[in-house]
Formats: sequence, structure tokens, C-alpha cells
Amino acid sequence: MKKLIIANWKMNPKSLEEARSLITRTEHRMNQVADKVQVVVAAPFIYLPPLSHYCHMVKLGAQNMSWLTEGAITGEISAQQLKLFNVSHVILGHSERRLYLGETDSVVNAKIMTALKYKLTPIVCLGGEEDAKQNNMPKIVSRQFGAVTTNLSQKQLEKIIFVYEPVWAISTMEKSVPASSEHAKVMVAYLRKLLAKKIGIARAANMPILYGGTVNRSNVSQFSKHPEISGALVGAASLDSENFWEIIKEFYRESIHRS
Ligand code: PEP
Repeated sequence: MKKLIIANWKMNPKSLEEARSLITRTEHRMNQVADKVQVVVAAPFIYLPPLSHYCHMVKLGAQNMSWLTEGAITGEISAQQLKLFNVSHVILGHSERRLYLGETDSVVNAKIMTALKYKLTPIVCLGGEEDAKQNNMPKIVSRQFGAVTTNLSQKQLEKIIFVYEPVWAISTMEKSVPASSEHAKVMVAYLRKLLAKKIGIARAANMPILYGGTVNRSNVSQFSKHPEISGALVGAASLDSENFWEIIKEFYRESIHRS
């Protein structure tokens, strides 16, 4: 299984010119790592159509989408519209959407169903809740996992990329505290056990489960050294092409080392 590195640009960068330069710097280097690493860039909606012309090895992702397929919903974007611009992935259930925009588990569940229907790969974040603390993460993750996967078949579950992303470890959160790589490893393994209960141990072992929360060039080796962690969701550090490239390279090196 290839390692997966997903950039979450949020409302950045400030111009299309910067967005284009950021993505092409990664795109031009992808042939050095593409046998072991897949990179996805989740860009703001308005940059997706122009960026689709520059992405060949890098895949494009959206940061959200509507759970409805069409109709009168002001300000929303549908899965079908994303597909028009070669978008292959979509981040769903990010902590910032849960905390600031009131996104609930049932909305995330409905969005997962819609994404799968239109063959978009859902990148589902677990770990965002107001009272989240290190010691109650298993409880939060298991509750969120159960709720967002309600009524999904085994086949559907296997198409999802799950991310353990404790909200308190996101770099831009007030009082952010980076998670230790031990904690990340234990929680990724915990999530894999939850998956195994639904799809069996062998299938769960083959599913990508990522870690997200202040991963950057200085700490990436702490996370990449654990084979349980299939890659990273990267926010702030993905806005600096050199920082982002070091993260990609480190997961690549680790992959080569283990093969
Ligand atoms: C995120 O919010 O998805 C994220 C990974 O952010 P950061 O890397 O900045 O903590």
C-alpha cells in the first residue's frame, strides 16, 4: 500500500498564482516518490478548476461538499460538480467544520454516502469534538466512527480513508498541543480495531489510516517510523512547498526502508 500524504490548504493561499506555484513544485518532484507515495492536495473550491490543468501525479481533493446531489441549496457544491474538474477526493468531518460550522455525525454520514455514490474518495476525519482531551479520545473516536459509518456496507467502508486527527493537536487551534507519535500510533491502531470489527482483521489491515495534527518537517520522522500510520493529513506545513516536500520524502524513505 502506498503512503498517503494529504495537504489541507483550508482558506489558503491568498492568490491563484501562489496556489499554482505550490502545486507545481510538488507535481514536478512526484516522479521521485510516486512508486511509494500518493499525494492529494485539498484546495479551496475556486482553485480546483484552474489547478486541475496542473495536476497529473498529484491528485486533487475538495475540503467539503454537499450531501445533496443537486437542487436549491445556496452556497453549496455538489459531488457531480467536483467530478467535472478531476477532483478525486473530499475531506469530510474535519474538526473545524464540526466546531465552527455545526457539522454533525449524521451530516458527515450522508456526505460519505453521496461521495461514494459519485466515486469520490472520502477522507474522513475523526477526533474533533469540543471537550476532546487526550484521555477521552478512544471514546470520542469510537462514537464518531460508529455514527459516521452507520448503514455503510463492507464494500463502502473499504473505500474510505480514515484520519485520526485530535482537534487539540491541530496547529492553528488555540492552546494547540502536538500529539506524541506514541499516542498517534495507539489511536490509529485503535481505529483499525474498530474497522476490523466491521470488515474483518485482514481487510482492515489493508486500509489506509492517517494521522493529522501539526505534522511538519521537524517531527515527521516520529510519525512515519510507525508502520501502523499510513500517512499524514497536513495543514500549515503544506503551505510551504519545501516543508511539504520533506514530509513526503520522509514517508517515502521510511517506505523504502521497510520494503
Ligand atoms: C488539519 O487541520 O487538517 C491539519 C492537519 O492542520 P495542521 O497540520 O496545521 O495541524
